[in-house]
Amino acid sequence: MPTPSNTLRIAVLPGDGIGTEVTEATLAVLEPLAKRHGIGLAFETLRAGAFCYRDTGTAMSEETFAAAASADAILLGAMGWPEIRTADGTEIAPQLDLRFRLNLYAGVRPFRAIPGVPVALADPRARDIDLVIVRESTEGLFFSRDRGTVSHDMAEETLRITRPVTEKLARFSFELARRRAEARSGRRAEARSGRRAEAHSGGRPEARNRPGVVTLVDKANVFRAFAFMRGIFAEVAAEFPDVASRSHYVDAMALDLVRRPWEFDVLPTENMFGDILSDLGAGLVGGMGFAPSADIGDAHAVFQPAHGTAPDIAGRGLANPTATLLSAAMMLDWLGARGAGQGFADAAAELESAVDGAFAAGLRSPDIGGRDGTAAVARAVAQRLRPGG
Ligand code: ATP
Ligand code: MG
Repeated sequence: MPTPSNTLRIAVLPGDGIGTEVTEATLAVLEPLAKRHGIGLAFETLRAGAFCYRDTGTAMSEETFAAAASADAILLGAMGWPEIRTADGTEIAPQLDLRFRLNLYAGVRPFRAIPGVPVALADPRARDIDLVIVRESTEGLFFSRDRGTVSHDMAEETLRITRPVTEKLARFSFELARRRAEARSGRRAEARSGRRAEAHSGGRPEARNRPGVVTLVDKANVFRAFAFMRGIFAEVAAEFPDVASRSHYVDAMALDLVRRPWEFDVLPTENMFGDILSDLGAGLVGGMGFAPSADIGDAHAVFQPAHGTAPDIAGRGLANPTATLLSAAMMLDWLGARGAGQGFADAAAELESAVDGAFAAGLRSPDIGGRDGTAAVARAVAQRLRPGG
């Protein structure tokens, strides 16, 4: 389908299970949002995933891959299904292939306490949780995904950390911390001048005033690969004197994410550590339904909720689409930062505020004990988009 030159092509891969439900709900919000901000988005829905594998013998055809790779951004629901597996018994996960094939090294997973959404910790400071795990997504222990060896008496997997990817991950993390610190002080100035109500209404003044802090999460006390990673981070940190640089062992980080998560900002880490800590992070702020993610490389990016296809609730209209809506906001923000125009950044900010506003006003999805299903959440968020932009 020919599109005008100012229209961006978004490849939409709904996938399996609740992936299709949360994607549909998100498109229902994105379409009016785009219209109001005068931003051109052409959605091209593509089939991939476990059911695609069952029906066609391939989880993602080369044609689909090429269409996704040539789009301006990729919006993905979730893929995989317990009963549908490859011949060797592994799960169908074409979303992992996208990460490797498109070199999406930075898995960005923000965890933020949304006003009105219950957090896991009773400490009032838990309402200030606002951290981002940057999960390296192309190497680490996942490098071994198709390479591990198993014999009768031994199984062996390889962890790989490379200098070029680690440098990129470090630079990405420091730049992210810098942008977040700038956004915090911008919000503070706006709140002071009364131009804008505080979007993150739970935020305390000291939390809003924080400088950027990057904390590398590793296991440098045991493994040479992580000492190597630390060394590279230290080199890159020197380029960012305005951002504080720290490091933390992954076991201690698991403890501190439960004890004092509000003290952390940007947490880059190895692939497997990031996978595990991400679920912990989601548990802190309301569950998987509130955990968005972006897999970002130099040329491509995939935006998807951090959760899977949730076979236990699939097909019942119960899935919480918030993680996907927030992932879509990250997509608009990323497109805006890449030169698509201020309309994209504005639309991203408005979508995030609409999500916050809807939950602050009493919206409650089933995963937090409420009755507002997938469509009701999308409706409530759409209703809060400012009329006229
Ligand atoms: P994956 O292997 O892809 O990580 P998983 O097996 O870890 O998947 P998920 O699909 O992420 O599982 O779901 C874990 C649990 O969280 C399930 O009980 C599911 O019902 C719940 N869950 C996940 N996403 C949502 C959502 N959007 N709304 C409500 N509940 C969800
Ligand atoms: Mg999981």
